[in-house]
Amino acid sequence: MRTEEAISVPRSLPSVTRLLELCREVGAPRDALVAASRRVLEDARKAVLAGGNTSEVELVRAVRAHVQVAQSSWPARVVNATGVVLHTNLGRAVLSEAARGAMQEAAAYSDLELDLETGERGKRDTHVERLLVELTGAEAATVTNNCAASLFLSLAALAHGREVVVSRGQSVEIGGRFRIPDVCEQSGATLREVGTTNRTYASDYRDAVTEQTALLLKVHRSNFFLSGFVANVDIEEMVGLGDSRSIPVLNDLGSGCMVDTELFGLRHEPTVQESVRAGAGLTLFSGDKLLGGPQAGLIVGRRDLVERVRRHPLARALRCDKVTLAALHATLLHYLRGEHLEQVPTLRMLGLSQAELSGRAQRWRDALALPGVEVVPVASAVGGGSLPDAELPSAALVIDPSHFGVSADEYARRLRAGENPIMARVERDRIWLDPRTVQPDEERVLLESLSKAGQQQAVADADADAARGSA
Ligand SMILES: *Cc1c(COP(=O)(O)O)cnc(C)c1O
Repeated sequence: MRTEEAISVPRSLPSVTRLLELCREVGAPRDALVAASRRVLEDARKAVLAGGNTSEVELVRAVRAHVQVAQSSWPARVVNATGVVLHTNLGRAVLSEAARGAMQEAAAYSDLELDLETGERGKRDTHVERLLVELTGAEAATVTNNCAASLFLSLAALAHGREVVVSRGQSVEIGGRFRIPDVCEQSGATLREVGTTNRTYASDYRDAVTEQTALLLKVHRSNFFLSGFVANVDIEEMVGLGDSRSIPVLNDLGSGCMVDTELFGLRHEPTVQESVRAGAGLTLFSGDKLLGGPQAGLIVGRRDLVERVRRHPLARALRCDKVTLAALHATLLHYLRGEHLEQVPTLRMLGLSQAELSGRAQRWRDALALPGVEVVPVASAVGGGSLPDAELPSAALVIDPSHFGVSADEYARRLRAGENPIMARVERDRIWLDPRTVQPDEERVLLESLSKAGQQQAVADADADAARGSA
């Protein structure tokens, strides 16, 4: 039985007070040191009881490491070499230089809610609204924290206590358990599902409309695709149906494309402008998917409907902050100036040709001059719940880590854990680095890290050889 030992403090460990004395040289506030020392002693106690041992030097080192982790800044910049343009785990859209500058500027005092001309109070979304109206042709616009919030708020403002008609093929989960039926219920509206998973006809909507119907809802299938024996009602027809009964159409587009994706050799993604032109009462989309801006939920459409959304009591709870609005404004300005294809990183990355990418991968290979490295044609993905079936022809630098005596998982872990973290793809026991998502100013860091990882291993191998030789 080990019960007695388990509850007693191992003799060999110092007290918290003693450890604090030993940690006098660790530069940190006392509270942080006390917390770190307690944790380190707790871990050490378990290790000792499990038969391990430790020393005062090791304990001090552990406290120092704890304090460093606790005080390090976050988030850390990561080089995205996965080729997934909108990578949710890496923060989705990369913002333009101008958007970053605008965020910096907005961090100080600003005219966020002030009309500088009159000195009167203004609305925080006026400037963004003006750009959205200009770009999309809508009468009015407003902004929330994200597209999920925009959908929830629109349903709450326009359909509380009434019915919303949606196709069963669009009553879906968007991600992170954000499900259309649940959101609808939370908003106080009742979902009326029509049609079947694969086929819904205009007559299905027509038959479902009653006195109780507040909205016809269309949800874009942005994160999956349905093919084969499928029938959908397009936005024009839905608007026609709605108009005949004075029921607005709420079009949740999600990905929020404002350009023709065929430019990138991709399937046509419905655009915000098309939805507005078709007469959707409100069109909702994300700021940080294909638009390429900060996380935000954009709402454009009829003035009376936008006003009702804006005046809903929860609008304030879901509004976005000044830093986001600044980045969004800067992003929209790129579109207004017609410079979005070059200036918005998401669009710039989507537009890179296989020839350019292959050229970059070859330059990396030549600069590295390591064994087991080659350039292979691949497909990059759009990601972030946009264009799920899309493949963009690219070329990857492929590393076979067995040349350095480590597994692909271990090599990938080292790349992630390095001073400049790198996210690569691991497939078929190899490391795949797609230049599409590596920003030009990150190349130097990437190559240094890759070459360091290889050299480290070469040094380790040489040591191992020497050890074998002397044995
Ligand atoms: C992504 C998406 C959302 C949610 O957008 P967030 O900005 O991530 O909240 C909502 N609806 C659709 C159709 C989407 O694709």
